[in-house]
Amino acid sequence: MAFLKKDPLESGLKEILGKEGLLCEKADVSCYGFDSSGLEAEPDLVALPESVEQVRKIVRLCNRLRVPLVPRGAGSSTTGSTVPVRAGVILCFSRMNRILGIDPVELTARVEPGVVTGVLQEEVEKQRLFYPPDPASLKFCTIGGNVATGAGGARAVKYGVTKDYVRSLRVVLSDGSLIHTGVDTAKGVAGYDLTHLFVGSEGTLGIVVEILLRLLPLPEAVGTVAALFCDLDAAVDAVTCLFISGILPRCAEFLDENTLSVVSRALPFDVSEEARAFLLLEVDGEISSVKSQLSALKACLQKAGAIKVLEAKDEKERRRLWEARRSVSPALRGLGYDRKISEDICVPRRAISAMLSYLREIQPLYPVDIFSFGHMGDGNLHVNLLFNSHEMDHQDLEALIKKIMKKCLELGGTISGEHGIGLTKMKYLGLELSPRVIGLERQIKKVFDPKGILNPGKIFEE
Ligand SMILES: Cc1cc2nc3c(=O)[nH]c(=O)nc-3n(C[C@H](O)[C@H](O)[C@H](O)COP(=O)(O)OP(=O)(O)OC[C@H]3O[C@@H](n4cnc5c(N)ncnc54)[C@H](O)[C@@H]3O)c2cc1C
Repeated sequence: MAFLKKDPLESGLKEILGKEGLLCEKADVSCYGFDSSGLEAEPDLVALPESVEQVRKIVRLCNRLRVPLVPRGAGSSTTGSTVPVRAGVILCFSRMNRILGIDPVELTARVEPGVVTGVLQEEVEKQRLFYPPDPASLKFCTIGGNVATGAGGARAVKYGVTKDYVRSLRVVLSDGSLIHTGVDTAKGVAGYDLTHLFVGSEGTLGIVVEILLRLLPLPEAVGTVAALFCDLDAAVDAVTCLFISGILPRCAEFLDENTLSVVSRALPFDVSEEARAFLLLEVDGEISSVKSQLSALKACLQKAGAIKVLEAKDEKERRRLWEARRSVSPALRGLGYDRKISEDICVPRRAISAMLSYLREIQPLYPVDIFSFGHMGDGNLHVNLLFNSHEMDHQDLEALIKKIMKKCLELGGTISGEHGIGLTKMKYLGLELSPRVIGLERQIKKVFDPKGILNPGKIFEE
């Protein structure tokens, strides 16, 4: 090859990827040094592979040179899990974004990791099939990133999360070998479940290069209802009423008063002054079943004291409601605070009210505004802490986050429902997992990545 040999890493990667597949200039590589957490660190190089063989060669090279390798999908992680804290090579999957096949008999889709989640959903829906996991970032996040973070979404309450749809994986290990885990059939119990060990491992155990996903038939109809309440507890009561009445909504999203005020203009109805909470509920199934679910759902809303109920009259209105819900995170960023920390706790449904009232109780003790929203149907609350850094002492911030996490654990919850640990939650992992469990997990990391080159510095504190 006629490339200029700057150093063994750069020249080796150029040989594997050609000029098109490698970014070396500072201005280019720094675009890959941050994610949605707001944290950043500069990688040395960015590799844009097009094939599994290229990935294997890159990993082999990095392994030989002991260079850190950080896989990256769209960089929408909220925990800093793609931030290259030890520099090295970013392995970005934007050019491995092919849907390799959709099988309407097996009800599966085979995809490369860089496929955007929303694109896959649209493609399978053309064949009246359904891929339920729907992170709010679905317009840009990738299936590879979803697998590596164990992403959830609004429809998790009825349909589960990414891990429930991953049937098998092809994974490049830290020595460059390629393995196939799981089964391509509907069932299979041969050996340990390595597939689900990789799901949620945040790129620290292996590089996912191909995914076989389970699909479902597309539900015939969907009914969507939005409602406003004078207080948050009434909204919780409405959702509780649904479950007690035997209705399993496919989504039960909520916004607290603060969050509602930020997106109220995007909603297709006026938000009255006394509104303190918003619910977005959806049911699906056969047309007749959706009709009966909707009337039971509206009865629950009425019983819980909703002050306004709006059933989306058509797809346009439904989309508008979802656009408003999905615009929450970007809208919060536009509020003018210089820090936004997004916690992702998950508590049992019975404990939602207690958790939310605890948040109201502690907010006045700190120079922070708390915006809570998220997936009420499965207890996954996105608690966003917005503040200006000059007003918030670092130790106070840590104490506040610790208080929130401890309360969530005391109520039987977990510190991360769907975003993972990455960098931002590392120091709190020990609140939830015992030293014995963390020790076992560290040993697993050693087995898969003895030289520690795969996404180093993530999940576990060093
Ligand atoms: C506005 C907004 C809304 C969001 N809403 C949700 C939500 O509703 N639910 C939810 O779960 N999350 C949500 N997120 C978080 C984020 O979108 C998810 O974590 C998503 O799964 C990340 O996908 P990505 O392609 O951006 O991956 P990245 O952010 O690029 O990477 C995430 C992790 O996956 C690893 N990784 C990526 N590709 C691979 C691969 N091929 N092999 C191995 N490891 C890999 C990375 O190293 C990193 O550790 C939201 C984020 C934003 C900004």
